[in-house]
Amino acid sequence: MNATVTAQLYDDLGLDYTSLTWAEQQWVAWYKWIDNPVVATGLMSFLMHEIVYFGRCIPWMVIDATPYFNRWKLQPLQVPTLAEQWECTRMVLFSHMTIELPAIWLFHPIAQLFGMETYQVPFPPWQLMAKQIAMFFFFEDLFHWCAHSLLHKGVFYKHIHKVHHKYPAPFGLCAEYAHPAEVLILGAGTIFGPILYCYVTHNLHVFTVYLWITLRLFQAVDAHSGYDFPWSLNKFIPFWAGAEHHDFHHMAFSNNFATSFRWWDWLFGTDKRYRQHVARVKAAKAALKDKCASRQDLLMAQYRLMKEAEAEGVEQEAEVCRTASFKFFKTD
Ligand SMILES: [Zn+2]
Ligand SMILES: [Zn+2]
Repeated sequence: MNATVTAQLYDDLGLDYTSLTWAEQQWVAWYKWIDNPVVATGLMSFLMHEIVYFGRCIPWMVIDATPYFNRWKLQPLQVPTLAEQWECTRMVLFSHMTIELPAIWLFHPIAQLFGMETYQVPFPPWQLMAKQIAMFFFFEDLFHWCAHSLLHKGVFYKHIHKVHHKYPAPFGLCAEYAHPAEVLILGAGTIFGPILYCYVTHNLHVFTVYLWITLRLFQAVDAHSGYDFPWSLNKFIPFWAGAEHHDFHHMAFSNNFATSFRWWDWLFGTDKRYRQHVARVKAAKAALKDKCASRQDLLMAQYRLMKEAEAEGVEQEAEVCRTASFKFFKTD
């Protein structure tokens, strides 16, 4: 592409550039500077993903290193060490470079194929973006529930999803610690929603997709953070899953397969063990409070119940792996 083509694209839009917002002007400047829409979109997508993902992990690393916050840690005795976090970061970076970078590079051609706006300005009105992002959240959550439930079965678990379950007490950085096949399978839930929507409506801007992916990355990192604060989103939106929901999934190996919302697990009964556990912890604490037990006793009671749930999960996981090879291939 020669140096005049991007400028020509903008001339063809016939816009009054003085009416653009600051963000829209930066958008135009980026595309003109790179002067190749495929490279401009690909590079921006990759940088956005890296900056948002690792940027969102930094506050959680600080929180892990600050003992004050341990009172809100869901598994208080399982604080990740720096060595564990570094090992996880190395693997996530390797996966980003080898799997996500090539996949993200295909984003502009695929976006154009489905009629998604990329270099164009102005951006859509915020009301439309909010509506579209709400739809993507709904679609991804349902897709994830289905795909994640399948990934817990037989060979899919043993050879793919087991990698992500390396950490029974998750931390922010391990949100994308997964087998390459899982990155593609579960990543599809994030990207298929916008592509499907664009295919049907021909009315979607890549800026909206970036906002959606930013929120989705926040959701994923936060769900793995291992902390449940009094100000966490699930305290204000009761159907929001949050860390408390997904932390149990890692600890107990089963239940809670959805990402953002609680309704599918509730509707399909895949949160029964989780709800029983929550009820048992609540009852044990209430009984101890009646006896005026100390805060330490309450924590120990909760810890014992957590260890029971974890031990059951270890057994279940071993059973899935042990029976994996013949469960899917037996012919009788
Ligand atoms: Zn899982
Ligand atoms: Zn997870």
